[in-house]
Amino acid sequence: MEDTGAVTVPPHHPALRDAAPAVFWLDDPAAPPPLPHLAGNTTCDLAVVGAGFTGLWCAYLAKQRQPSLDVVVVEARHTAAAASGRNGGFCDASLTHGFANGLSRFPGELTTLDRLGLDNLDAIEATVRKHGISCDMERTGMLDVAVEPWQAEELVEAAAAMRVYGYDVDALDAGAVRAQVRSPTYEGGLWIHGRTALLNPARLAWGLRRLCLEAGVRIHEGTAVTGVQDSGERVTLRSAHGELVARRVALATNADRPLLARLRPFILPVYDYVLVSEPLTAAQLVSVGWANRQGVGDSGNQFHYYRLTSDGRILWGGYDAVYYNGGLITAGHDQRPATFARLAGQFFETFPQLEGLRFTHTWGGVIDTCARFCVFFGTAHRARLAYAAGYTGLGVGASRFGGNVLLDLLSGEQTERTALGMVAGKPVPFPPEPLRSAVIQLTRASLARADRHEGRRDLWLRTLDRLGLGFDS
Ligand SMILES: Cc1cc2nc3c(=O)[nH]c(=O)nc-3n(C[C@H](O)[C@H](O)[C@H](O)COP(=O)(O)OP(=O)(O)OC[C@H]3O[C@@H](n4cnc5c(N)ncnc54)[C@H](O)[C@@H]3O)c2cc1C
Repeated sequence: MEDTGAVTVPPHHPALRDAAPAVFWLDDPAAPPPLPHLAGNTTCDLAVVGAGFTGLWCAYLAKQRQPSLDVVVVEARHTAAAASGRNGGFCDASLTHGFANGLSRFPGELTTLDRLGLDNLDAIEATVRKHGISCDMERTGMLDVAVEPWQAEELVEAAAAMRVYGYDVDALDAGAVRAQVRSPTYEGGLWIHGRTALLNPARLAWGLRRLCLEAGVRIHEGTAVTGVQDSGERVTLRSAHGELVARRVALATNADRPLLARLRPFILPVYDYVLVSEPLTAAQLVSVGWANRQGVGDSGNQFHYYRLTSDGRILWGGYDAVYYNGGLITAGHDQRPATFARLAGQFFETFPQLEGLRFTHTWGGVIDTCARFCVFFGTAHRARLAYAAGYTGLGVGASRFGGNVLLDLLSGEQTERTALGMVAGKPVPFPPEPLRSAVIQLTRASLARADRHEGRRDLWLRTLDRLGLGFDS
């Protein structure tokens, strides 16, 4: 995690010379036209705020549960404008930001969480197939790679722990992992089968938007909710375009400033940055191997995630996770040349055989980091309003689970999901500013030091671990 401090790499890299400052997934002729904003006051049974994955799944699943329900989605910008259209497209079964985080925070219910997570991923795939959503979904599995010997040892230990929980994993030595994806930096790897799909996230969001509209959901884009008010039996959402009075409200606003003040201490908006290359030539593809097309992540505290796209590009993101002082979210932060240059340099260290490849797109997006790194839930206004937030960097798959939990909470139904400690519990809140920025700076320095010293966590990180506090992306 990094704040706005000085970056020592030069802010340019020759491979970035022609890159457009644009989100690859959103730069697509298939992008649907905008939907009209709210026009005057209206009412509905269920109002959903936010047209990212959480809001869209919530609205779609609400209509699946009860087709006659009158559902309205209001979105400040356009569908998939925020994290849902800007991510790496790793759609994971994990509801807990990965196995290790799940094991450390929810050991007693990890088996249940893993089963629900796999069911959730299967259901996403079934929806995509049944409704012909052309989002290039491929269930490739995940390849965790070690780029330091200590990481390779940790992956061997992780493989053993995962097998206890029934994971289908292959622990790979340096030779075996390089036979999968050719990088001279790899010291070992772990191929986790069956639990990760890669997809085009914007296409998935647009597909869900279509399903919602076909089911009769009204979606108003360009409609920012500016306030929430209790109106007796109902909840009123205010906007510049009119008021929406709803029997129930689902807040799915992710990293944006929460409409409920009580939520603000729990969420930290953290910027994550991404590059996409031009399509690789056939010879370049042969030089990297990657025949099984897995999603790849390296194993440091500061990590990269990378993958092939359906048209043979490489998406490469992560490493710097930037918290701007005061938690500022602004379009100006979508581009960060120094981070792009650093990412490009690290890309060619990983794949020196691709020297000469150009990047075509650079962008950033905001992650809703919470101290436990996975989604949390709650209700307000006498349970007429429910919220889901805090996915950190792994919400593409978990957002469907989030949408379902929102509906469970709003209906008052007791389900296997609502019985989970993970659903009932909350993360530890972050301290207020200016302490928050100081804590982040200290943590960032400690995490970088741990990566340089065989993963050894210093006193500060061990203290945070004991308090259940942390930062991740
Ligand atoms: C660069 C990047 C890479 C990532 N990579 C991955 C990955 O590979 N795999 C993975 O699982 N996760 C990844 N994530 C995280 C993942 O994208 C998110 O967890 C997920 O998209 C969250 O979906 P959401 O619907 O909750 O939020 P969002 O997609 O952020 O949607 C929230 C919506 O609410 C709207 N909104 C906010 N406030 C208001 C308001 N007041 N009124 C009206 N509308 C409002 C916003 O405009 C936005 O459209 C990544 C995130 C980023 C930024």
